[in-house]
Amino acid sequence: MDIKKVMVIGAGQMGGGIAQVCAQAGFDVTLNDISEASFDKGLGVIEKNLARNVEKGRMTEEEKSAALGRITKSVDLSDAKDADLIIEAAVEKMDIKQSIFKQLDEIAPAHAILSTNTSALPITEIAAVTGRPERVIGMHFMNPVPVMKLVEIIRGLATADEVYQSVEDMTRKLSKTPVEVNDYPGFVSNRVLMPMINEAIFTLYEGVATKEAIDEVMKLGMNHPMGPLQLADFIGLDTCLYIMEVLQEGFGDPKYRPCPLLRKYVNAGWLGKKSGRGFYVYE
Ligand code: NAD
Repeated sequence: MDIKKVMVIGAGQMGGGIAQVCAQAGFDVTLNDISEASFDKGLGVIEKNLARNVEKGRMTEEEKSAALGRITKSVDLSDAKDADLIIEAAVEKMDIKQSIFKQLDEIAPAHAILSTNTSALPITEIAAVTGRPERVIGMHFMNPVPVMKLVEIIRGLATADEVYQSVEDMTRKLSKTPVEVNDYPGFVSNRVLMPMINEAIFTLYEGVATKEAIDEVMKLGMNHPMGPLQLADFIGLDTCLYIMEVLQEGFGDPKYRPCPLLRKYVNAGWLGKKSGRGFYVYE
């Protein structure tokens, strides 16, 4: 299937980045959010990113204007009526995603592919509220989207091979690397990453080492660019806790028990970089 028109739902951190890379790759993008203010905020970030690319000589002023010219504002889901591919990147709540997918199923053309950038929610459960589960798929971009090469492509239980193939081809056109995974809690990325972060928090909780020491061991010893506790602060401790809960509930296995220290920090409002304090303090 030839994808020309893309609609991105949610102009936040992820949706804005996805819209940017799609526009840079030459796709017409309709960027949707719930209000003009949220759309403007998202577009502002895209403009800043593209301006930085021009400053650094990574693109010309003309290329920047052309990319921005390919992004159309939307605050109404009925704009999905002529989309070929929809990438949903609204908030990580099942009821909100299901409500969006139910509406998209009624609005989008029959050939349209409905995808979600969910970090951990089951694709199959989102697909189940539509009349076209075979055309629903996960496209899990990494943060920051313009920089990170990976897109985890998640097949729901009913996802058609042809839909998978179209999304894989589209991902390559964005100069990203697709990796195929099946729909199980945490997919591959968060299934492997989050228990490692959780274990690092346990080593701090049990007094095995200081936070700096734990991060240093993983940076110097395992060649990780960032220690797990610092990474947790960047991801957001609430997000880390939420994903551990998804793993614990999804597998019913106590090995995914979130560390009590993680829960304590989240309850205290220490959410990491975004709240100014997590394992480290941020100005
Ligand atoms: P965000 O809070 O930065 O952005 C969410 C945006 O969605 C906001 O602009 C909000 O106004 C908008 N929105 C909310 N409800 C909406 C609706 N009904 N219709 C249209 N827009 C709506 O969040 P984010 O970090 O960009 O995350 C978006 C999705 O991407 C989530 O599912 C998240 O789990 C996933 N994700 C996040 C990351 C990350 O590192 N932040 C990485 C991979 C995947």
